[in-house]
Amino acid sequence: LDRNPGETEFHQAVREVLESIGPAVDRHPEYADAKIVERICEPERQIIFRVPWEDDEGNIHINRGFRVEFNSALGPYKGGLRFHPSVLLGTVKFLGFEQVFKNALTGLPIGGAKGGSDFDPRGRSDREVMRFCQSFMLELYRHLGEHTDVPAGDMGVGARELGYLFGQYKRITNRYESGVLTGKGLLYGGAQVRREATGYGSAFFMEEMLRVRGDSLEGKDVVVSGSGNVAIYTIEKVHQLGGRVVACSDSTGFVHDPRGIDLDLLKDVKEVRRERISAYAEKIAGATFVSGRSIWEVPCQVALPSATQNELDVAGATALVRNGCIAVGEGANMPTTPDAVRVLQEAGVAFGPGKAANAGGVAASALEMQQNASRDSWTFEHSEARLREIMVNIHARCYETAEEYGAPGNYVTGANIAGYARVAEAMLGLGLI
Ligand code: NDP
Repeated sequence: LDRNPGETEFHQAVREVLESIGPAVDRHPEYADAKIVERICEPERQIIFRVPWEDDEGNIHINRGFRVEFNSALGPYKGGLRFHPSVLLGTVKFLGFEQVFKNALTGLPIGGAKGGSDFDPRGRSDREVMRFCQSFMLELYRHLGEHTDVPAGDMGVGARELGYLFGQYKRITNRYESGVLTGKGLLYGGAQVRREATGYGSAFFMEEMLRVRGDSLEGKDVVVSGSGNVAIYTIEKVHQLGGRVVACSDSTGFVHDPRGIDLDLLKDVKEVRRERISAYAEKIAGATFVSGRSIWEVPCQVALPSATQNELDVAGATALVRNGCIAVGEGANMPTTPDAVRVLQEAGVAFGPGKAANAGGVAASALEMQQNASRDSWTFEHSEARLREIMVNIHARCYETAEEYGAPGNYVTGANIAGYARVAEAMLGLGLI
């Protein structure tokens, strides 16, 4: 805590992991001898830089850019960029730390990193976003490379931003190095299913959590918070798997549509027009927009928090339990507060932590890297089948590890130990570096 003052989200993420890996540390004294815990909590490299840019009126803005290259024991640094006004160094460190374990859980050869900026793309014109992305990349490019560090998207960074970032990288380096960024558009090295992958993966993971309990998503009412990339494609896959998403949100409030969210309308409002979520309720009869109340009060059997960190607190978890919710899967990174996790677990609600449940996005990114390296491009069906297989395997790894370490059904313990063990083994093998 003293070494990283004020980084509350980073402390929260580290505490959650350290609280559950004790049994693995006890079983492997060689990890303690090599100070794996101490090393794993310290990023390999942290880059902070100035990002000056000019808006459409000619005003100059100065934002701060970050890239925290956390751990490269398993492969090149890999993890998204977040553009959001709330981004601080501690935010990026918490996300980078989570990413190390998440990437390990996928079984793919990728290290962990995260980056971003306190730039707010909401309400900015395309040209402003482009100028910002170009300025951001003008510094970041020197730290990237397909064998070194490969960013992707996160909040506020979608296909538009990745296109501008890749265009600038290509221009500066004079290299069409597709494998340097993932989540790209399909015409310039992007992969099928990357856009859908985090949301689809989150739904697949939930399907597995329910399957081992002899249940399924069929006929379930589901609440998904957020209405960005993760939320939209979670809703799409939940509907395909027979569930009905009755509410989703943005930072202004939520919409409740008891007949099930109309996905085409939601995509039009959010992806095409980039409007607020209230516009959805204005365009369809039977839906209501609610602000100033919690989305978790909407009755459901399954909840998939897919917006941002610490959005599901004790009051929300208590409401979910009261209304008969049986399973919660984290589509976002650390959306559930530690106390809320306890409320859910003590009530017997199945709980899937983000580092397992939302790993589909980074897994599809690793598949995009494979396709870029071999100059290949797989079909949608093949890519989705690979994604599903990876999510089923991640679920099995967490489930079996939890059983092995005496915590059956506890996916938090299973995910943390399974991810930690893989990184720790690689770090031991690589020596003191
Ligand atoms: P987007 O920027 O596409 O969407 C974020 C959504 O969350 C927006 O609808 C946003 O609303 C909403 N939101 C933000 N803050 C709040 C809040 N305080 N209360 C309610 N809603 C809020 O981001 P993504 O969908 O990409 O990411 C969502 C989460 O998933 C993040 O935690 C991210 O780290 C995680 N994640 C993303 C992956 C990816 O592949 N994209 C991979 C793995 C995890 P508004 O527009 O009003 O801000």
